[in-house]
Amino acid sequence: MSHVFHRNLHQDYPTAVQGDGPYIVDREGRRYLDASGGAAVSCLGHSDEAVAQAIKDQVSRLAYAHTSFFTSEPMEQLADFLIERAPAGLDSVYFVSGGSEAVEAALKLARQYFVEIGQPQRKHLIARRQSYHGNTLGALATGGNAWRRQQFEPLLINVSHVSPCYAYRDQQPDETPEAMGVRLAAELEAEILRLGGENVMAFVAEPVVGATLGAVTAVPGYFTRIREVCDRYGVLLILDEVMCGMGRTGSLFAAEQEGVTADLITIAKGLGAGYQPIGATLVSQRIRDAIANGSGFFQHGHTYIGHATACAAALAVQQAIESRDLLTRVNVLGEGLQARLGERFANHPHIGDIRGRGLFQGLELVADRDSKRPFDPALKLHARLKKAAMAEGLMCYPMGGTLDGRQGDHILLAPPFMLEGSHLDEITDRLGRAIDTTLASL
Ligand code: PMP
Repeated sequence: MSHVFHRNLHQDYPTAVQGDGPYIVDREGRRYLDASGGAAVSCLGHSDEAVAQAIKDQVSRLAYAHTSFFTSEPMEQLADFLIERAPAGLDSVYFVSGGSEAVEAALKLARQYFVEIGQPQRKHLIARRQSYHGNTLGALATGGNAWRRQQFEPLLINVSHVSPCYAYRDQQPDETPEAMGVRLAAELEAEILRLGGENVMAFVAEPVVGATLGAVTAVPGYFTRIREVCDRYGVLLILDEVMCGMGRTGSLFAAEQEGVTADLITIAKGLGAGYQPIGATLVSQRIRDAIANGSGFFQHGHTYIGHATACAAALAVQQAIESRDLLTRVNVLGEGLQARLGERFANHPHIGDIRGRGLFQGLELVADRDSKRPFDPALKLHARLKKAAMAEGLMCYPMGGTLDGRQGDHILLAPPFMLEGSHLDEITDRLGRAIDTTLASL
């Protein structure tokens, strides 16, 4: 028996021993094409020599220096790199070890900002249903995924949840996409007014929803309307780009494509591409200034924040993406992947929707395409799909629908940016076989 407390104690896991470009090889020599980048993490594949070298160099020089004593060169350089490329208004970076920590830091920065500027009554958070922002208690409370929250509900801080921007299911029959954005912004405004505009701290959303919906983009204009509503009441906008950021959708920050900026942006996964655990919260000048001109001390922190080796790895990853022009590749490959998914699945009786942006694509499975009725959650279709895909030598990221039957199982694809066109065929072929054998076994 393994002494590892695995995340699923009923599952058998192959032992990963080797990375080879976009493949992971297990101890038995089986090769798995990583079509999901793990969970939208491994954007440079699994054997990047430049990143490995940067890590070796940093460890040999200085692996770690506690940030209450020192800053470090990789941390300073990575912050400069990110801020030079970030949406306007963001001017400093708080480095952590992953996505949940980045969200926790964002929530506390929002709260401390209002305490510093003399508005301590602002404590309410608003986020969206069918969203995921991490598994630590604050981030879990922010997320609106009933299944993930269920048993921890008594421990969670109070967060309001409004509707996500999920056109496939929620766009009304006579509604244009623009009108849908206006309606959802009005819903947010109504919730702010219900709580009292002067009491709300922040609104949190993913520009492109990843884990819980499967690469769902917002309708055009939605985020502009949302930004206007937040500004009207002095509410901070926190964009969670932990999954969709760092080039995944074809621009370094997903918010760029929405034409909005945020007060706080969280990033992780693709930042270090899995070579080291790292996340970050990008902070706007007014929040940093309020704290700098006030107490001067952000009342938060972990032992491994700003880890020198993690920062060196992330800097090497981001420099590789830029010097190899991989964002152009994300856009080209993204179109190629979407075209192949369309050819293979557009007429499939159980694929209700194909969606996404860049190398962030999702398929939603339905029992019936006309009514969009999801499969019975008790079938655990997503778990079966994952198993079938692994048997085909394919890593993809299937997730179950919500508990209220308002969403079907979906499959998220988020492959590395350095694929060849032939890998796209391999992904579609293997995925098609995994889906068909799974459905045939129901
Ligand atoms: N936010 C989003 C949007 C995510 O997708 C995730 C992870 N799936 C997180 C936060 C949490 O990140 P981590 O698992 O690194 O803590």
